[in-house]
Amino acid sequence: MAKHTIVLIPGDGIGPEVTRATRRVLEAAGLSVEWVELPAGAAALEQGFDTVLPQRTLAAITAHKVALKGPVTTPVGKGFKSVNVQLRQKLNLYAAVRPVRSLAGVKTRYEGVDMVIVRENTEGLYSGIENEVVPGVVTSLKVASQAACTRIARFAFRYATRRHRKQITVFHKANIMKMSDGLFLDCARKIHEEEYPNIDYQELIIDAGCMKLVQDPARMDVLLMENLYGDLVSDLCAGLVGGLGVVPGSNIGDDAAVFEAVHGSAPDIAGKGIANPLALIMSGVMMLNHLHEEVIAAKIRTAYDAVLSAGKHLTRDLGGQAGTDEFADAVIAKF
Ligand code: NAD
Repeated sequence: MAKHTIVLIPGDGIGPEVTRATRRVLEAAGLSVEWVELPAGAAALEQGFDTVLPQRTLAAITAHKVALKGPVTTPVGKGFKSVNVQLRQKLNLYAAVRPVRSLAGVKTRYEGVDMVIVRENTEGLYSGIENEVVPGVVTSLKVASQAACTRIARFAFRYATRRHRKQITVFHKANIMKMSDGLFLDCARKIHEEEYPNIDYQELIIDAGCMKLVQDPARMDVLLMENLYGDLVSDLCAGLVGGLGVVPGSNIGDDAAVFEAVHGSAPDIAGKGIANPLALIMSGVMMLNHLHEEVIAAKIRTAYDAVLSAGKHLTRDLGGQAGTDEFADAVIAKF
């Protein structure tokens, strides 16, 4: 088996705990890997860098093309631009992919949820263009470009085709933001009509879409949306299947990919050894599939599904008593 070189960013808060657990699981499952561990976020400042995203970290991801990343804290109000926004923009990681599925053993209000959120990752209100027009009046600019809207639409349809998904639903607010969300819709319609007419396509105004999500999420398949909507809807959907501890994610570009959970650095539980590592382990499984290590990926997925079904080693967010390491050990014991 080829040895992979993967950049590992432990991150802040619960980041080091969940990345350590994930790394153990991946290695125990048989992944041959050399980790290149580098900091980002508050950890980078603590290690003496003068920026939250050191050039060395960025250069390593560019060189090795794959990173597994723990959540990071961007200090608020100190003039630092978000690490995540910088990473996505500088590495052109234009597609965030977040699968959300019901898990046997994790009790929630819903059953049969199996959807994927595809979020545009580089523009919208995250362009960072803000102005003070006159004192007391500020604006934030929502950017939509035809190139980026077309790129994410094509990505979503290609993803749906490869994964044998049947339907794409675009969430939008084009009734209000006629130009920016209007362009997003135009691009999605064009890709559907010209390139993927076989995939069922529908559009929902986002407020009605959110209502449908909580009424009957099992009807949803692939959801496509711009940056801010994708951020909000990801957490909403996490809540449908057991919370932030069970939803993985990836940020994909043409030249690099960064895998990370949807959750943040959870300062309220950091350092206590109780964080659920599953979301990052699942992100690791997505990374393995990206690296064509499908056998190891399937082995890990089968193992954590079995641990969840058995219900003995659930972490506190899922109603159990297990700590981070105990959960990881239980997964490893299933190999
Ligand atoms: P959060 O996701 O860190 O926490 C929200 C709630 O979910 C908290 O109660 C937390 O304890 C719980 N939670 C999150 N992950 C968990 C896990 N793995 N196991 C058990 N419980 C878990 O969101 P927040 O509190 O809004 O943000 C905290 C910090 O994280 C902020 O600085 C924010 O900017 C950052 N953040 C980073 C990322 C990232 O790096 N990808 C994403 C979101 C937020």
